[in-house]
Amino acid sequence: MDKLTALKQYFGHDGFRPGQQALVDGLLAGRDVFGVMPTGGGKSVCYQLPALLRPGVTLVISPLISLMKDQVAALEQAGVPAACLNSSLDTAEMAEVMAKARGGAYKLLYIAPERLASPGFRALAAALTIPVVAVDEAHCISQWGQDFRPGYLAIADFIAALPRRPAVAAFTATATAQVRADIVRLLRLDDPVEVVTGFDRPNLYFDVLRPKSKKDTLLALLEQRRGKSGIVYCATRANVEKVCDALCAAGLPATRYHAGLPDAERRRNQDDFQFDRRPVMVATNAFGMGIDKSNVSFVIHYNMPQSLEAYYQEAGRAGRDGSPADCILLFSPADIATARYFIENGGGNEALTPEERAAVRAQDYRRLDAMAAYCRTTGCLRGAILDYFGQPHAERCGNCGPCRAPAVDRDVTVQAQMVLSCAARIRQKLGYPVGENLLIEVLRGGGSQRLRQLGLDGVSTYGLMKQVPRGEVRRLVEYLEERGFLHRDPAHGGVSVTGQAGELLFHGGTLTMPVRAGEAPALRPGRKAGGAADADAGLLAALKAERLRLAQAGNVPAYIVFSNAVLEDMAARCPRTMDEFLEVSGVGAVKAQRYGENFLHVIEQYAQDTAEQPGMGTS
Ligand code: ADP
Ligand code: MG
Repeated sequence: MDKLTALKQYFGHDGFRPGQQALVDGLLAGRDVFGVMPTGGGKSVCYQLPALLRPGVTLVISPLISLMKDQVAALEQAGVPAACLNSSLDTAEMAEVMAKARGGAYKLLYIAPERLASPGFRALAAALTIPVVAVDEAHCISQWGQDFRPGYLAIADFIAALPRRPAVAAFTATATAQVRADIVRLLRLDDPVEVVTGFDRPNLYFDVLRPKSKKDTLLALLEQRRGKSGIVYCATRANVEKVCDALCAAGLPATRYHAGLPDAERRRNQDDFQFDRRPVMVATNAFGMGIDKSNVSFVIHYNMPQSLEAYYQEAGRAGRDGSPADCILLFSPADIATARYFIENGGGNEALTPEERAAVRAQDYRRLDAMAAYCRTTGCLRGAILDYFGQPHAERCGNCGPCRAPAVDRDVTVQAQMVLSCAARIRQKLGYPVGENLLIEVLRGGGSQRLRQLGLDGVSTYGLMKQVPRGEVRRLVEYLEERGFLHRDPAHGGVSVTGQAGELLFHGGTLTMPVRAGEAPALRPGRKAGGAADADAGLLAALKAERLRLAQAGNVPAYIVFSNAVLEDMAARCPRTMDEFLEVSGVGAVKAQRYGENFLHVIEQYAQDTAEQPGMGTS
């Protein structure tokens, strides 16, 4: 069978995505390959397809059990014999998989890196025909990456000890040069075919909001997305608990995931999410790499992550099926302090020398600065991301918050002078600076007990900004901080005027602040975001109901039956025969045979129902 036929037959794809073909060809020709593609770019097919076409069994080294289970389930659905060997199997199951592997039952065998050290597994591997060893999430081999796994360092020796050297394939979504060089060196790739594809994910909409209340904004965003599946990332376990409780209290179907939960609960919650019983997952970044769920239609960050690498990887879990999806970050300057705390107090890797550790920390701070700059930019957000990954791009993408509602520069010189002189007066009076909240209260002429006790209602700037909404004053204070006119003491939070402020206060300097025109578009309901917009909504709902039924009957996650993108294309094309059904993008022969009848029946039924109700049919 040739590769395009196999691609259609087993995976249902009509053609290759950028980069896939070169990697597939490389492996078919027995070369080593190295694929750097963004999350959702389609790395799996690059080794799964050659695995089908070459004799023997391809070993796939993968860092997470959940990831393996998911991939194996998807392969089995597509009619590809595959299995995994990991610590979730008991001794008998392990022995069964090993025996079947020895008998040539599988085309792909997924293993955790730690398995490579087991003598039993080494003996098995020596007896098998292994055309390819594929290393997924290959950045785990680098201590410069975010997910260093010492077990990955054993891969090269394992391969060297095999009776015949297989082709080695490495895949990652981490683009930095340092990590890439580590991968090539530590896996001892031999003159690999290297493919680095574009990092742009055009179906993702990006936005950064600075809400007055993150909680209220989150609730509003989720309310607009009822019935959709998504992830809410928080920086800390405590935030996960708090946010998840708030969502559940508001009647939203949320569950949670963080490293502090017992194993059994983590697994249960992940399954609830995966199977859409609880389609909203609130999680720390521990909920990560293994998530291959393709119908995630939004990723909201409740806190800013520590780097753009982490952000793009987490946000990239949205829209993996190619449907429009939203990536929204709820930013507040306090997030930067939290991130700094994590860098200072983060576990650090015991395997590193003190010098190496210092270098890693310096790097972490540079990453954090870039992340903060993303949150503050008023330019195109996609452009900011692609700049960071060193990719050329158009000036404006048209599919991010700032592009939809461009910022305009507002002259805020007078208001800035009010804030700065108020901070200066307070300091003069008390001999020490007060925190942001009290400063804002003085400016707005508040009457709290603390304010009066300190006599701050007597300073000349008291009540100067009475008419300005609290949120706007706060925004201005934060902007002045960002621009270096105010300094917030990290220890006690006191806000004081810097030397730079003299320019604005006494020397006729002016200050503009970029302000977005209109409301944040992500908050406007009913946004229609391109894609399969012509699909009939009623039919789509019927197809989704059928998918859910089939998924439950087969005990697999819904998106394993068909992704949203496939159902949208199905609803748009409205196939009436098996041949037409096979035309639907993402439908392969095996799946057509398995599910075709069911979906064709739903379409038939729907057509009849709507025909009987004039005025309500498809149009
Ligand atoms: P990655 O591992 O790079 O993050 P995956 O291999 O999980 O990405 O693929 C992401 C999605 O892209 C999957 O839903 C997959 O079915 C889809 N996909 C992969 N290759 C193609 C292709 N050639 N045409 C259409 N869809 C594809
Ligand atoms: Mg992958």
